[in-house]
Formats: sequence, structure tokens, C-alpha cells
Amino acid sequence: MIKNDNNQQETTPLPSREGQGGGSVLLFPGSFDPFTIGHKDIVDRALALADEVVIAIGIHPDKHGLFSVEERMEQIHRVYADEPRVSVTSYEGLTTDFARQIGATALLRSVRSMKDFEYERDMADINHQLTGIETVLLFARPQYAAISSSTVRELLHYGKDVSPFLP
Ligand code: ADP
Repeated sequence: MIKNDNNQQETTPLPSREGQGGGSVLLFPGSFDPFTIGHKDIVDRALALADEVVIAIGIHPDKHGLFSVEERMEQIHRVYADEPRVSVTSYEGLTTDFARQIGATALLRSVRSMKDFEYERDMADINHQLTGIETVLLFARPQYAAISSSTVRELLHYGKDVSPFLP
């Protein structure tokens, strides 16, 4: 870590998005395996805070989800077919590198519980140290806070109807 005289971390500014629309862009990284109504609520609320939201599925070569990346992207595409301010993509490697690549203004994540809070705080801090990027954290609304992709996957495993949890 490079430190300057004031003991503050040097940060590298994100590239300007001039010529790419120029507005503010929140990058929402995650697994989205699958994308739930809880995720959708975060994206919909974030649209009041930024011009664009880019939903980005992180690909981990050694970690296979229940749904393929293509299936997840298709599902999210369908949800936002009529919303030009939301796009979906996938990426490999560090989220901060990808954020820089697309000229994101900030990362978007959410907090459902104390457990999420500690994880998200640490990630936000590391990501800020890496590139100076900020993380916008939204609190999950109470009615969605208990929903997780892993619960949906488990219910699917036992043949249950998961449609109430999917957008
Ligand atoms: P990751 O594997 O990166 O945690 P997830 O797809 O599980 O990916 O979650 C992506 C983001 O969405 C995280 O910030 C998580 O806290 C948030 N999230 C997940 N489920 C919900 C929900 N039901 N309501 C609000 N936010 C949620």
C-alpha cells in the first residue's frame, strides 16, 4: 500500500465516462444465483440514486453455481427488458478492476443483517484502499431481508415452488 505524507492512502481516480453517456453508474456485483426479488428491490431503489445500474455476475472458475452464468444473465435480462438504465454483464477477476474498466462511479451492495454488515464493511474498505472507489450500501427492506439465493436453491433442490421469491 502506498501512503503519502499525511498517512492517507493514495488513490487512483476512476476514468471519466465522458463519451459513454457521462452519467453516474452504479456497479452491482454479485453471484445472483438466482436473481431474487430482494436483489431487484435494491436495483430499483438504486435507480433513484444514479443514471445507470450495471448488474455484474462475478465468474469464479473454481466455483460453479446452480444456474449457469448465461442462465442468470438471461433471467436478469428478462426482468429489465423495458428498463434501458439497467444492464447485465459478467466479469472475471477483481471487482475493482472491472469497475475501473467500465468507469463505474461507485459499487452498489446491500445489507440484510449484522453478518452482511461486517462482510460488506470489510469489502468496502478493501475496495476503497485498492482504487479509491466508494460503495453505496442500501439496507434491505424488512420484507426481503430473509430472502437469499442460497435458500431459493435449497427450496428448488426439494422441488418447492420458488416463484414468490423471484421477480
Ligand atoms: P455475493 O455472492 O457477492 O454475496 P449475492 O448474489 O448473494 O452475491 O448478493 C449480492 C448482493 O445482493 C449482496 O450485497 C447482498 O447483500 C445483496 N442481497 C442478496 N439478497 C438480498 C435481499 N434479499 N435483499 C436485499 N439485498 C440482497
